[in-house]
Amino acid sequence: MHQLTIAEIILGLRRKAFSSTELTRHLLDRIQQLDSGFNSFITVTEERALAQAKAADQRLARGEAPALCGVPIAHKDIICTSGVRTSCASKMLDNFVPPYNATIVENLNAAGAVTLGKTNMDEFAMGSSSESSYYGPVKNPWDTNCVPGGSSGGSAAAVAALLAPASTATDTGGSIRQPAALTNTTGLKPTYGRVSRWGIVAYASSLDQAGPIARTAEDAAYLLSAMVGYDPKDSTSLNRPQTDFGKGLNNALTGLKIGIPTEYFGEGLNPGIADRIQEALREYEQLGAQLQDISLPHSKLAIPAYYVIAPAEASANLSRFDGIRYGYRCQAPEDLRDLYRRSRGEGFGEEVQRRILVGTYALSAGYYDAYYNKAQQVRRLIKQDFASAFEQVDVIMGPTTPSPAFKLGTKSADPVAMYLEDIYTIATNLAGLPGMSIPCGLVDNLPVGLQITGNYLDEARILNIAHRYQQVTNWHTASAVAV
Ligand code: GLN
Repeated sequence: MHQLTIAEIILGLRRKAFSSTELTRHLLDRIQQLDSGFNSFITVTEERALAQAKAADQRLARGEAPALCGVPIAHKDIICTSGVRTSCASKMLDNFVPPYNATIVENLNAAGAVTLGKTNMDEFAMGSSSESSYYGPVKNPWDTNCVPGGSSGGSAAAVAALLAPASTATDTGGSIRQPAALTNTTGLKPTYGRVSRWGIVAYASSLDQAGPIARTAEDAAYLLSAMVGYDPKDSTSLNRPQTDFGKGLNNALTGLKIGIPTEYFGEGLNPGIADRIQEALREYEQLGAQLQDISLPHSKLAIPAYYVIAPAEASANLSRFDGIRYGYRCQAPEDLRDLYRRSRGEGFGEEVQRRILVGTYALSAGYYDAYYNKAQQVRRLIKQDFASAFEQVDVIMGPTTPSPAFKLGTKSADPVAMYLEDIYTIATNLAGLPGMSIPCGLVDNLPVGLQITGNYLDEARILNIAHRYQQVTNWHTASAVAV
């Protein structure tokens, strides 16, 4: 049962081939047996899952089941779940049990989804390897000596190891697409504002966006359809008519114009990955698309701009963790200053502290104009690059990552090497555009992701483009674990 896609689960439940309780029980058993090898879950919500599954079975029996009724999924542990610890993989929030659900959890619950548990990640979503978790690193099911990518590594690994058919994740600079690429899963980061951020612990608010990680584009469409929607509680939420992203999945791609940024195929790209991407592009030509070289001239400035803006916003967002209101508090503080200093010093890991320091520095008087303002100007140039590209082409394709999954421990001591993992994904967040990563082959038996970036609010189109490819290829069905 664990290899079923969401589309198959929906059918199977309605045909009574199995119940949600049976499926949920089966996945919970699998998690219990296998996850010690991957560490993809921080918390497994067994009781809640079985109660939700039972309720779903009753609704299914009554014939009043909403779209995802009885479908088990996992949530990244940065997404607040009422009554269930939401740790952000940090000692700081090890004891934090939110009294409310994030809007996306409410939306998915309303659609009938069953919550299996909360997935492991880089601490506060800062990282590209899921090694900085307070609960230990996540391991890539394709090779447990390798990282699964990050920061949503647990969400991706759980799906790749067939422990959950899909999961929620967040992407500030690549954290949905990059782990999806390294684990052979399908990940989608929506347009900024498409999915409510309310109840998701903030990292860099102008970049954060939640989306699904699944095994197929069709499944990602199911999840996204349930996640989106205007939310008055999020001031940046877009008010758009409700969309069924499953509708246009089979549209023909004849005449589709695909832009290939020359900057994405230069130095630093693993040659094996370059080959897989070229093969995928040829497949798209077969499907009727036309390829066109384009230029995103400011691409190389994306990482430096991001690593000023994201830490700046993080330093402001994380100031709320002060040892007083909630979260970790140090033992026996001498005075107020000592309480702040040690609570934050002991509660936050190294990378989080590094970002807070960088961000605070960039925002301080005298440096603000030189760093933060400059980075915002660069951000505008990057946005304009995309705007001119989308005057010529419908979508942009290229690699999701410069290299396949790397060995655990090889980049954790070198922050810059780690930051470079997101060289192809970050610009999308700076511009607020939607992007996907889909499996397109293997290099040394490790997965490769094809990145598809769309224009604003073009999620339906990129899902259609991904789905058509998955109809004629079977890379996405290759499995990391014996089925
Ligand atoms: N790796 C990037 C960072 O560390 C992106 C992380 C993310 O998208 N959450 O900030």
